[in-house]
Amino acid sequence: MKVHKHDAIIVGAGGAGLMAALYASKGGADVAVVSKLYPTRSHTGTAQGGIGAALGNLDEDKPIYHTYDTVKGGDYLTDQAAARILAENAVDAVIELEHMGLPFDRTSERRISQRRFGGHTRNFGQELVRRACHAADRTGHMILQTLYQQCIKNEVHFFDEFQVVDMIVVDGVCAGVIAIELGTGEFHIFHGKASFFATGGWGRCGAVTSNAHSLTGDGAAIALRRGVPLQDMEFFQFHPTGIYKMGILITEGVRGEGGVLINSAGERFMERYAPSAKDLASRDVVSRAIYLETREGRSIKNRGYMHLDVRPQTVNRYFAEEGRDRSDFIDEATVERKLPDILDFCRTYLGVDPVKEPMPVQPTAHYAMGGIPTNIEAQVITDAGGAVMPGLYAAGETACVSVHGANRLGTNSLVDLIVFGRRGGMHMAEFVKAADWAQLPANPEAEIRAEFERLRRSSGKSRPGELRAKMQATMMDNVGVFRTQETVQRGIDELAELRERFYQDIHIDDKAHVFNTDLMEAWELGALIDLADVTAQTAIERKESRGAHSREDFKARDDENWLVHSLIHHDGELANPAYRVSFDKAVDLSLWEAEKEQGLPEGEQKFRPVERVY
Ligand SMILES: Cc1cc2nc3c(=O)[nH]c(=O)nc-3n(C[C@H](O)[C@H](O)[C@H](O)COP(=O)(O)OP(=O)(O)OC[C@H]3O[C@@H](n4cnc5c(N)ncnc54)[C@H](O)[C@@H]3O)c2cc1C
Repeated sequence: MKVHKHDAIIVGAGGAGLMAALYASKGGADVAVVSKLYPTRSHTGTAQGGIGAALGNLDEDKPIYHTYDTVKGGDYLTDQAAARILAENAVDAVIELEHMGLPFDRTSERRISQRRFGGHTRNFGQELVRRACHAADRTGHMILQTLYQQCIKNEVHFFDEFQVVDMIVVDGVCAGVIAIELGTGEFHIFHGKASFFATGGWGRCGAVTSNAHSLTGDGAAIALRRGVPLQDMEFFQFHPTGIYKMGILITEGVRGEGGVLINSAGERFMERYAPSAKDLASRDVVSRAIYLETREGRSIKNRGYMHLDVRPQTVNRYFAEEGRDRSDFIDEATVERKLPDILDFCRTYLGVDPVKEPMPVQPTAHYAMGGIPTNIEAQVITDAGGAVMPGLYAAGETACVSVHGANRLGTNSLVDLIVFGRRGGMHMAEFVKAADWAQLPANPEAEIRAEFERLRRSSGKSRPGELRAKMQATMMDNVGVFRTQETVQRGIDELAELRERFYQDIHIDDKAHVFNTDLMEAWELGALIDLADVTAQTAIERKESRGAHSREDFKARDDENWLVHSLIHHDGELANPAYRVSFDKAVDLSLWEAEKEQGLPEGEQKFRPVERVY
């Protein structure tokens, strides 16, 4: 058994993991990054639209406006102090990325260029603001390359294509993780004073998704199985514009540049649902509108998709109607320059040229608002009171700090990675200076090794691919954009059946040890089933509609009873979990409380939970 010993073990090499690694190493820690993918293949690299920061390069902007939008976008479930840190730290974090060499697009004055994005406004909702800093439509790609170079320069150790499958907890302290080296099938122990989960999301719970194949929520599932609760799992975001059937993302930046959604009647229907923000209302609102239009029989060819039109003649016609300045008008060259990858996707995968024809789009499973609960230093917490598990950190999509509340605004995930990855990295560097090495138990890998042997030797009749497709369909049909008690219960029942087949009747073909993707995908399916299940288990308990959680049997938001975070614990066995859901973790409303203390009248309180109007 190979044992690797490093102060800090970072699991995941996306934006969150690399930022944490960089800052932990800058703080003097000996850092190892363990990643199942080669770092620059992480999903952060696909982020298109941009990273939000109130630089005010093109429009007047302030971090407090960004904080307001983040809280409102999250339908008030956002922790307000964390949102403020996000917005304030975003400004210098983006400038820092620039100084590291990230090639942002430029304004004519050579400042970082910014574009409009849904829900981002100036002066507390007055009008849309240009806040998303971007490098064409490849912002995430540039972030990942930049951070990876910095980590290499800082002598971070990389263990690429090592998949973490378990975590070692000794007397309530995290002492490291266990990984499989994909090239050999061997188990390795990574013994650390601190471990950091930055393993990304679990969009692969959905049948139509923008997420890469690797996004199976391993880190969240491992933490859950080892006694860490997950927070706000009922909130999963559908992005309104995935390519029809394929799910591949068409960035909100398309609408930021003026693109509009059109139904089969040729109508720009968002004018009815969100008279002010229209196509740039928050994602939950736009996704629901597409479903409602579809139900009313107004989807294109009655097939459940809409047209996303960014043809200059269409965009300029609406700009003219809105009385926009002519300098905002676009031509084909603007679209080519600002959205090159989107044009490429559509031309390659659809044979559709977006400068000449509209794109067929439908909502696609996109982003997990919930995850491993942390405080603002990215330390993992294990109860409603905020007790910390020493030695365990998390940031990025797998974590829930909670800055996104019930619905994340576009461009805020990249900020989250950079801001909380950095805070966590710095905290970890200090923590490992003072911490002792925990004594590892004998054979910490025994349990997970046995689980892998079970999968390898399996000889049942159920193929992982078949179970996965069923799970994804169940989630889309029953725990998707709209939910009721009945549908979610059906989802829970079907997941229980799939779980039983996974543990009693699985079959994998490949029995080898070298790059056994069959085996690893089977294990990932187990993680996905757990995450789908906790999503459904919390969705059935939350009897209100808020953000991305839309209950048709409880249509209103109910702040009196439900302005609280959920926590779900997994007790019992892998094959037979017993869940505990609680709703006693308070939402941080400190900005609103400060306003009340100042004696501001209700009408002037910006952070008071009110109905969201776009
Ligand atoms: C197509 C697309 C476009 C997007 N566009 C934007 C945008 O414009 N702006 C924005 O703010 N957000 C955007 N998002 C969201 C944002 O990109 C993601 O939420 C964010 O990049 C997640 O970063 P991360 O560091 O948490 O994880 P990821 O970048 O997903 O990285 C996860 C890492 O964990 C590793 N890993 C996972 N499991 C294991 C394991 N078991 N063992 C070892 N390693 C493991 C992987 O190898 C990988 O390195 C977009 C998302 C998608 C899918």
